[in-house]
Amino acid sequence: MQIDTLYIERAALAYPASAKIVSKLSAQRVEEIEDHQSVFSRRGTNYLTKRTTRNLFIAVKRGALVKEAPVAYGYGSDDLHYYYIHAYNCIYECEYCYLQGYFSSPDLVLFVNHAEIIGEMRQLVAKHASKRVWFHAGEFSDSLALSHITDELSEYWDFFAETPNAWLELRTKSINLHVMRKLNPLPNAVVSFSLSTPAQAEKYDREAPPVSQRMAAMLRLKERGFRLGVHFDPLIYATDFAQHFETLVAELANIIGFGAIDYLSLGVVRFAKDVYREAKQNYADSEIFARNFIQGTDQKMRYIRPLRMQMLETGRELLKKHGCPEDKIYFCME
Ligand code: SF4
Repeated sequence: MQIDTLYIERAALAYPASAKIVSKLSAQRVEEIEDHQSVFSRRGTNYLTKRTTRNLFIAVKRGALVKEAPVAYGYGSDDLHYYYIHAYNCIYECEYCYLQGYFSSPDLVLFVNHAEIIGEMRQLVAKHASKRVWFHAGEFSDSLALSHITDELSEYWDFFAETPNAWLELRTKSINLHVMRKLNPLPNAVVSFSLSTPAQAEKYDREAPPVSQRMAAMLRLKERGFRLGVHFDPLIYATDFAQHFETLVAELANIIGFGAIDYLSLGVVRFAKDVYREAKQNYADSEIFARNFIQGTDQKMRYIRPLRMQMLETGRELLKKHGCPEDKIYFCME
């Protein structure tokens, strides 16, 4: 991957992962820095500069490495849900992405202190030994898109293989299975793909692989015995939403089959207020904003509740119609 400036934190140099990452990148400039935050947060770079300039930081994640997930984030309401932070920002450019406006820079940050992240996971699992504890990857960056460069998944695999009450979810839109080919399926690790109707993905999921290729990647993983999940998120209103969604569901049933999918979430498009403002500015002509959004009590910008519920219920009914067991479906963040 071609990088403009590669910034390496001095503390990160002590981690073997840093050298591995550097060896896979081609950078025009390399700069050693003390603390990535002082450069990354100071930049104030427009989100869309990611189209022309790609800077990358190799850094040590400080502060909370594993965070509690919001309510209704993952499948299993009796389970505990956390997400862990292995990177910031993404090589794709979805128009609704909450990373715009969330950070003050679209530059990529790859963290290398995975042993410490796993250490925090270990403590949480020990504290909640009688519970199923989920750790979701992909909150601040796609979990597979750069995995051939970061190459950290085998470390996580070792931890999850020996910790049966810890469950891993890798959330992705990527078809990069390079690293997955070297791993064996685990009973407590799920790879979940975000899917939307092909027409909407083509419009809004800029740079991300087409839905047909995401399904092909799912099929390859299914054939190898990996557990799968699906996130129909975000659902974006269109007059012909139901018709296109049904075609997508029928294809999923046909190509993958619901027996091979552990869970499916449905989530309607939503934005934090700052992200909404930024996304509207970045994509002024986007049809995402053709419908009105209103601010909810949680400060998030969403469609009005009746429309959200209608879309979620329509999605659920269509999934059931095509053979998906109801207990595999959940509404995300509603
Ligand atoms: S794949 Fe996810 S993280 Fe990447 S741009 Fe799209 S929404 Fe953002």
